[in-house]
Amino acid sequence: MLKLEAGIFLRVFRCQDKQLMHGHLHLCCSDLPASCAATGRMGCTSNEYMCTFCNATIGSLADPTGFDLNYLRPTSDSRLLRYSFMWSETENLDQREFLTRRSGKRWSPLDQLPGWMPSRDNPVDFMHSSLLGIVKHVSCEILLRGGMFIRKANQSNPLEKFESFIQNAILWPASVGRLPKNVRTMAYLAQALSGGRVKADEWRNLAAILFIALYASWQEDGMIPNEEAPLPSHQNLTVAKSMIAQAKLVQKRRQKFLASLNIARNQDGNNPSPPSPRRNYARHYNNVLKVWTQSGSISDYMRAHACLVQAFQDWAAMGCHLVPYCHIALHMLEGLRCNGPVYATWCFGPERHNRILANVNHNGHGAGELESTMARAWLKMQLLQELVRLLRT
Ligand SMILES: [Zn+2]
Repeated sequence: MLKLEAGIFLRVFRCQDKQLMHGHLHLCCSDLPASCAATGRMGCTSNEYMCTFCNATIGSLADPTGFDLNYLRPTSDSRLLRYSFMWSETENLDQREFLTRRSGKRWSPLDQLPGWMPSRDNPVDFMHSSLLGIVKHVSCEILLRGGMFIRKANQSNPLEKFESFIQNAILWPASVGRLPKNVRTMAYLAQALSGGRVKADEWRNLAAILFIALYASWQEDGMIPNEEAPLPSHQNLTVAKSMIAQAKLVQKRRQKFLASLNIARNQDGNNPSPPSPRRNYARHYNNVLKVWTQSGSISDYMRAHACLVQAFQDWAAMGCHLVPYCHIALHMLEGLRCNGPVYATWCFGPERHNRILANVNHNGHGAGELESTMARAWLKMQLLQELVRLLRT
């Protein structure tokens, strides 16, 4: 990239002589772990440096205050670059460790690029953050494993109504692509922490109809009841265990966060028992409506952003378990202002290309240089597609 910044001579269409061309890395858009690795940041699950864009800690996910941007201090890119160069200039491992703990930043080769800002130029991808992050987490963790589909006494099973609505009540257009056919399968995948078999476009399709499916599942006499879902019985042992584990994690994070704000845990100074997350149908439904607000213009984005903040603040107040992507979504408005609509930067295209390259046959050679093999396979595929196009015409 440094060579490209300085300029190299390349052949150009309809030019006899090679022309001087320059290249510039405008941004590096990826999921959170890849983003941290590429820019030399500490991992997104680290306690103090969860967010690339501000000073939010992982404990802030458990408290509504943690989703109030007025309380958060933006990351200083110049400070990160200063620490990064200090890190690269010392050989002392202890000194490097000290610098990393102080700033959350290690050296990254990208920091050498002219004009590169590690926080500003590193937006988190919408596909990973919203579809594979928030939609999946809200559907599987907050609603399904949070006990919102537990059957009430003498009433039909809300999960069956939800599945029946998705599979039978909607006539999807042919262009829609894939849709999750069984929410239980999704829950299993989420529990296994794989999620690899449920694709981002399936989550996108589910997100488009989630609030209608929830209405079909939860409504009583046309209204979403303003009451708590029943507690899981011994038949729902998986859900009960999951709820206890989530409550403990949320309590631990909240105590850390409040301690960082110098707020006492409780008046007696003792640790309270973990509160059970609130399971109010109406509050969950309102939050889902707010998260899935459609937006097309910048004023719509600002309205959607305000709704998003309210929804996550309410979920945090209800004691629900939230993940770093829920916080990162708060910074999406800044990214949209800098880089345009999400379609301009999302990773659907690159991910599809990754799959093509991953399927390239290299005869079992796992080590060594595979770049030329992949480049040849890529060119061959392009030429074959071009040949098919010419034959059709
Ligand atoms: Zn942040």
